[in-house]
Amino acid sequence: MKPFYIYNTLSRRVEELRPLRPGEISLYSCGPTVYLPQHLGNLRCYLCWDFLRRALEFNGYRVRQVINVTDVGHMTSDSDSGEDKVETTARAQNKTPLEVANLYLKRFQDDLASLHVEAPELWCRATENIPAMIDLIGRIIAARYAYVTPSGVYFDVEKYRGKNRIGRLSRQSLDEQNAGQRLSHSADKKSPHDFALWVLNQPHHMMQWDSPWGRGYPGWHIECSAMAMKYLGETIDIHTGGMDHIPIHHENEIAQSESATGKPFVDYFVHNAFLIDKEGSKISKSAGHFPLLSDLSASGFEPLAFRIFCMGAKYRSELALSDEGLRGAQSNLEYFREFARGVPADIAAEKSDTEFAGGYRERFHEAINNDLNTPQALAVALEMVAEAYRRGERRVWNTLKDFDSILGLELGAVRDASADIAPEIQRIIDERTAARGNKDFGRSDELRAELEARGYEVKDNRDGTATYRRRAT
Ligand SMILES: [Zn+2]
Repeated sequence: MKPFYIYNTLSRRVEELRPLRPGEISLYSCGPTVYLPQHLGNLRCYLCWDFLRRALEFNGYRVRQVINVTDVGHMTSDSDSGEDKVETTARAQNKTPLEVANLYLKRFQDDLASLHVEAPELWCRATENIPAMIDLIGRIIAARYAYVTPSGVYFDVEKYRGKNRIGRLSRQSLDEQNAGQRLSHSADKKSPHDFALWVLNQPHHMMQWDSPWGRGYPGWHIECSAMAMKYLGETIDIHTGGMDHIPIHHENEIAQSESATGKPFVDYFVHNAFLIDKEGSKISKSAGHFPLLSDLSASGFEPLAFRIFCMGAKYRSELALSDEGLRGAQSNLEYFREFARGVPADIAAEKSDTEFAGGYRERFHEAINNDLNTPQALAVALEMVAEAYRRGERRVWNTLKDFDSILGLELGAVRDASADIAPEIQRIIDERTAARGNKDFGRSDELRAELEARGYEVKDNRDGTATYRRRAT
């Protein structure tokens, strides 16, 4: 197996990945709080982890990935003050919290599917894992790192101070991490830095469960610790999330887990940088402007163009959203598809590729194993297709399909769909292409109707090309 290198936020270094069990990776990705649609910045995060997971699979690892769904306990401030986000939406929309969570989870999963983000082995919902959280809180109390008060069970951060404890991940002091929290903290807390594991005596809160400490609900941070440990074990290989989670959320996850088990919680913490707008500010819900995938589609960009756009930047680099960048990605998408459509049956059936493909395969592999350098991997794939065109040689198809296991464009299906097109249909398509070229839109529309009547899907792309495929029956 080739060595795989990844930047570990714990050490601030690119490290060789050494899994706990040979050939297997446990991967926990912090999931969405399902109270609003997930914007493009959120979606970039899941694309990054899809690239990571596919890259590990490319290397032969079996990856067990778990993504949580926060449907209770995430307050409007990450440091547990304010209202529960899901309940706030439920009240505003006159729905139950469960209806809100189901609605936005479904929408999120639909977006991921259209981006060809593979579903994890398991989605786990906070509201379905309350016993695991209660159990973990009990262990933390037994280890004397938490205390019970009338307003909740709190983690005793002062007691957990020290070398390799709070602040290890963010390398910030508690005051830096929790700036502002002093103003809003409950009088029951021993220290303003303490955070809630279980919230008590909030009668207006809709979602409540019985616990040994009274009726209440979990804090946001304990959810991830409890579910990661329940499904992946007390020590996991890789934990991913956005860089904004480093200071509070992930610090707290480490503190909760390690105070209970006495073992390392995570071997590799991997964080992605933000998607930013043209002015350079982070795209976020709190900033008030957050473009959605549906906004891109309305501007004529396919979801897969956004996928390629994100692949064109390293996960650790900020990425500025721009029409120009998306146009480039859309045309790269068409470039790959066009190539796939032109692969004839005899070449598609061959098992081995022409000699020059081997060098590209090596460079591609090297790029992804070098701290998930997706822009370089993408460039290698484009370069190989360009050389194949130059030489009039399509026997790079197997190699391209292997690259596509990470690109995620499903080029095999693109080729097969075009191979399905009968000659008389191809004649109509050619006539329509000519009509469009002559700006004879009346004729082009007639031919579109004819193709549709014969069972074909017709999609006119933004760049002037069109895509045809036989409708699935
Ligand atoms: Zn989390």
